[in-house]
Amino acid sequence: MPQFGLRPTELDAVSPRTARKLVDTLYQQTTSLTAGGAVFMALGLIGFLGTGSRWYFAGFVVAACTCMLRLWQTRRYARAPDSAPPSVWARRSLAGAWLTAASWGAWSAVLLFEPEKSLVIMVLSAQSACMIGGAVRNAAVRAIASGQVFLTLTPVFVACLLTGSGYLNIYAGFVALLMVAALALTRHLNRQTRLLLRQDEEKSELVASLEAAKQDLEVINRHLETLVSTDALTGAANRRAFDLNAAREWRRCLREQEPMSLLLLDVDYFKLFNDLYGHIAGDVCLQEIAAAAAVALRRPADGLARYGGEEFVAILPNTPLDGAVRIAEHILRAVSALGLGHEASPFGHVTVSIGAACMVPVPGAEVQQLTARADAALYDAKRSGRNRVKTASKPMMRMEIAAASR
Ligand code: GH3
Ligand code: MG
Ligand code: MG
Repeated sequence: MPQFGLRPTELDAVSPRTARKLVDTLYQQTTSLTAGGAVFMALGLIGFLGTGSRWYFAGFVVAACTCMLRLWQTRRYARAPDSAPPSVWARRSLAGAWLTAASWGAWSAVLLFEPEKSLVIMVLSAQSACMIGGAVRNAAVRAIASGQVFLTLTPVFVACLLTGSGYLNIYAGFVALLMVAALALTRHLNRQTRLLLRQDEEKSELVASLEAAKQDLEVINRHLETLVSTDALTGAANRRAFDLNAAREWRRCLREQEPMSLLLLDVDYFKLFNDLYGHIAGDVCLQEIAAAAAVALRRPADGLARYGGEEFVAILPNTPLDGAVRIAEHILRAVSALGLGHEASPFGHVTVSIGAACMVPVPGAEVQQLTARADAALYDAKRSGRNRVKTASKPMMRMEIAAASR
């Protein structure tokens, strides 16, 4: 498509998104183009059949050709709007609109010299209506709309002056007035359209920046959530997270009437370990124990937390006591397998003692009762020589739990 050296400069001053929207409006005119073309073709045909003048027939041909050209352009745009930048599409639209305006204007001007004036009045009226309609539809790009007004009305204006008819000379004044009014209208509409699009763009930018801020906030929130629920030394959940998780899983097991087990784990002779190897080595030891114990918990709902000092706790929802004991023994073996030397321990390496307890929650009972039972079992393990798993002496009966909660 030739560029004609014309630049609809408005498109250079706006963002690509707004430019695309502006160009969209230029190519959404199928109905008005078809209606305008049909009116002119009908007038050309009626004029030709009524007067036999070839100028009317020429008008019919011109209307048909320009209308088809514009509809073809519209179809091309609708099929592949991204095949060319908005400025190129705007130039194409400008070329089509100006060609149509110039040819229809020239046709009306020629008809002013025809003897049958009533037909000419019809053509001029239709032309004014189509010119205004077209200029309004193309107001997004002022070069197109203003050009349409000029190219349509200038030939009519000149022809009115050249006919030598007094009435038509006066009519030339009205044509000039119409031109001024149409130009003012297109200018106003152009400003409004661009203002609306700018506001729309600002709104989109605001929404985008809010969305970005919201996402940043979500990332920070997640990070904070991890921070407040994680033990800084071992990376396991902290006591706060354990309390929340234990209460939630307790309620779930109560609803489902499923057993919930709890393991309390304490490092053996850890004071002596610190005294012998130092607190830094003690910290590393706790980290390795936490990692080894976490590996032993396989179900997603199982959760390990640092209970305090050198003690850890594991919640095992939907797990009966024998299952909990198996996991505890697995932890015991995993810690021993770490092979962390401990000269002051009778075992020669770092070991842990574990107390295991299990309950099917009943209304009125608290998860602390389960913890207390695991704690008792842990002390049993300590008393019995350490490096072992002990269970709460006997499973607590439901009636007993209800009594304990009263
Ligand atoms: P037991 O076998 O009966 O459990 O003996 P223990 O020495 O492990 O128990 P005790 O309660 O006497 O000592 C616990 C020690 O754990 C005391 C404390 O210095 C140490 N400890 C607690 N928290 C930390 C920690 O975060 N880092 C280090 N390095 N040591 C800790
Ligand atoms: Mg302890
Ligand atoms: Mg200890």
